[in-house]
Amino acid sequence: MKTSQLLIPTLREDPGEAETVSHRLMLRAGLIRKTAAGIYTYLPLGLRIIRKIEQIIREEMNRAGAQELLMPIASPAELWKETGRWEHYGKELLRFKDRHERDFCLGPTHEEVITDLFRREVRSYRQLPLNFYQIQTKFRDEIRPRFGLMRGREFIMKDAYSFDNDEAGARVSYQKMYDAYTRIFTRCGLTFRAVEADTGLIGGDVSHEFMVLAETGEATVVYSDQDSYAANIERAEVLPPSDVDDTPLRPLTPVTTPQCRTVDEVTGFLNIPPRQLVKTLVYKANSDTVAVLIRGDHELNEVKLARLLRVTEVQLADPESVSRLTGAPVGFAGPVNLPGARLVADHAVKGMKNVVVGANRADTHYVDANQDRDFTIDQFADLRNAQAGDPSPRGAGSLTLAKGIEVGQVFLLGTKYSKSMTATILDDQGKERLAVMGCYGIGVGRTAAAAIEQNHDDKGIIWPLPIAPFHVHLLPVSQSVKTTEATARLYEELLAGGFEVLWDDRDDRAGVKFNDADLIGAPFQVIVGDKGLADGVVEVKVRRNGSKSRIAPPDVLSHLRKISAES
Ligand code: ATP
Ligand code: MG
Repeated sequence: MKTSQLLIPTLREDPGEAETVSHRLMLRAGLIRKTAAGIYTYLPLGLRIIRKIEQIIREEMNRAGAQELLMPIASPAELWKETGRWEHYGKELLRFKDRHERDFCLGPTHEEVITDLFRREVRSYRQLPLNFYQIQTKFRDEIRPRFGLMRGREFIMKDAYSFDNDEAGARVSYQKMYDAYTRIFTRCGLTFRAVEADTGLIGGDVSHEFMVLAETGEATVVYSDQDSYAANIERAEVLPPSDVDDTPLRPLTPVTTPQCRTVDEVTGFLNIPPRQLVKTLVYKANSDTVAVLIRGDHELNEVKLARLLRVTEVQLADPESVSRLTGAPVGFAGPVNLPGARLVADHAVKGMKNVVVGANRADTHYVDANQDRDFTIDQFADLRNAQAGDPSPRGAGSLTLAKGIEVGQVFLLGTKYSKSMTATILDDQGKERLAVMGCYGIGVGRTAAAAIEQNHDDKGIIWPLPIAPFHVHLLPVSQSVKTTEATARLYEELLAGGFEVLWDDRDDRAGVKFNDADLIGAPFQVIVGDKGLADGVVEVKVRRNGSKSRIAPPDVLSHLRKISAES
């Protein structure tokens, strides 16, 4: 195509609103424009990239035996009430009423809709396994949409849902999707890692997230430097400590700690290491109040806490509730004499001796507090975040932390949805059985953004060939008849040779064209000028490494074939 036929509004300046490289470059290269917070229009170049990624997804999903369908964006409340998610999903679910006052929502995910279809249309075990997928717009009213397509409110997702006769079958379907995802992200040119994941609002037992490792990632992943363990920090197991502290118990002693509330303030004031303090965090889980004990140098993991308490979300109690519970201002809560709250503690607290805790009195802590003597813990559990250097839960090596962008997630759901919606099939004995499900999502726009995070330099984007909006950017640097004719000939030849070519036919200075070409990031540039043509050559530049070759026009096609096969 010719530049003059496309709207490609490149920007010379960095747009102020963009905080990440991919957001900035998507705006600057004229790929997207914001319509409202978290809601974007895909401009022609941006849409080409989206379609490329969708095509790769489609090919791999089809290859894995999934079948494409398309469900509606609006879904009726009744289905969501059956699974309880009409109540549980919270504000991310955008709800509305139609003209007849019936409740609807914009689909953030489609387990309810597909399970409803399945129970109405599929009867026999002989029809399974089945895997349905769609590539469709989703809406989640995210509290903090940001980073452009990375965390939008309206975004394109590929979602798939598998149905099997039994758990073993479901595991096979899950593995097929896991393998398909591996191929998809590899074909997109991404460096990624599959990590064990929490199942959150979707539910289920087993899950992996596909993480593109990048500094701007919102997720933290941990992985072992020696074995294959890799997990989202939300999920990452922490082994209980193995060392035993056999220091003799000293008597419980209150000490004045004026205005010392944080771990740093208290341990600084008392001149002790943070690991000798146990902090007491007061949480709300639905209507319950829970006090959570964590070693001073550790971080509580709220996802683990929510799991332990079997709720979807926990919230730090507000200052008034903390004061009401402890009789002291925030910052002095402790486990000694704390009726009215269940006490749970991280494994690391077990066996700690002579610790510092809040005294439930203003400006006061206890030193030498001891469990079982001064307070009793109701339950111990793995409740903290893994830290760099922790031993791998698989046994070899220690954990490293890295930032990741979650581009896809696969879930083994089990019967969570088939049970609540009574999606059954008749087995070979003619008996009703619940279908065993899996579900599988990929963020299409987020994948494009992640590709930019991993493939750019200070001049712009460097697209991996399979998802580039065009393979070749053809750049005539003069308006002479000779150059125009040579460009037109190359354009036709390269198109005929199967390349997608963007011809910059604007009457602009060479510098402007070069800057735009580097910004837009087609893998190859072909520069045509009078001087080169006089020597019988054009220049072929590889965007990724900037290398240039002088090639005779009739050889450009074969040269490009050669270097694209190598790239
Ligand atoms: P996150 O934890 O980042 O909010 P999620 O785990 O809620 O995502 P899933 O329900 O697993 O998301 O959705 C499948 C995929 O859809 C994600 O892996 C991600 O690539 C994409 N996705 C989810 N939310 C968004 C969003 N707000 N904007 C863009 N893509 C998204
Ligand atoms: Mg997810």
